[in-house]
Amino acid sequence: MKQIFLLLIFVLSQCQSNRQADNIALIEQQRLMVACQQFEAVYIGLNKDYINIPEARIAIDTLISIFDDYYFRHQAQKKYDTSEWYFPVQGYTARAIGNDKKNRHGFVDNGCNFFDRGINPGHPAYDIFIRDLNNDGKDDRTKEWVNILAMTGGIVVDVEEQWKKGTTARGGKYIWLYDPSTKGFFYYAHNNDLFVKVGDIVTPGQVIATMGRTGANANKERSQTHLHLCYYQVAPDNDIRPMRFYPQLKAATHTPRPSKNVNNNTEEPTPLDTALVDSAGNYIECGDDLSISSQSSQCMGSEQ
Ligand SMILES: [Zn+2]
Repeated sequence: MKQIFLLLIFVLSQCQSNRQADNIALIEQQRLMVACQQFEAVYIGLNKDYINIPEARIAIDTLISIFDDYYFRHQAQKKYDTSEWYFPVQGYTARAIGNDKKNRHGFVDNGCNFFDRGINPGHPAYDIFIRDLNNDGKDDRTKEWVNILAMTGGIVVDVEEQWKKGTTARGGKYIWLYDPSTKGFFYYAHNNDLFVKVGDIVTPGQVIATMGRTGANANKERSQTHLHLCYYQVAPDNDIRPMRFYPQLKAATHTPRPSKNVNNNTEEPTPLDTALVDSAGNYIECGDDLSISSQSSQCMGSEQ
């Protein structure tokens, strides 16, 4: 009888501690979701001038520590080095990155940062193109959508999945991914389908979306189907600046196309560079910088 009683006590205490663990997990999850909502509010607030820059800096600083805390608690402190990064477009390599006459690979930041785009933010990103001459969004060789991969591990902190044709929003269906290992934010724009949601933890090489043509400019007939990819790194002084990461993209792990009927050794086409530069060699595939409204941008070479 005494043994049964002790067993009952043990089972009840286990239930109690399980319930406590569940409650803690729930609180952590809720804290993360609130932080992600705040990230979106700051991001949109900056674009629409609802929040001033000093306030935004303080807010993002706090959010980063919440993201770091959550991620490392759930990933057993696992960090990924840039040498472990994956090329973000499945079946393609760095040869698919757009270029310009000055060999900047389309990256022009004009001194802008996450908080302050300046008068002319340029194009602080890389555009990675697929072979899609009929602009249906699919790879001409496979007739399939092309997978977008997480370059590294991190937390999905914001997504836009509601973009509709005819609206002025430029990023289209985008994903913001925070990488606690290198303290950086990735921004993947113009996707078609999104396979992740806010609060998800992703691993390097995970399929997070398919490439699309969403976004006011990316949807236009003149635009070639591409991924617009930014990486903003948190500097030691807590500024968050767009970084050039062409060497890392070039060295990143490639993954073959999933299709069975396609020869994966076929070299992918070089993007049609000439369509991307004006007569002065300026990059004209802009218009998908961080500005949400198409009215506020003065992209170089832009046909506003
Ligand atoms: Zn772009």
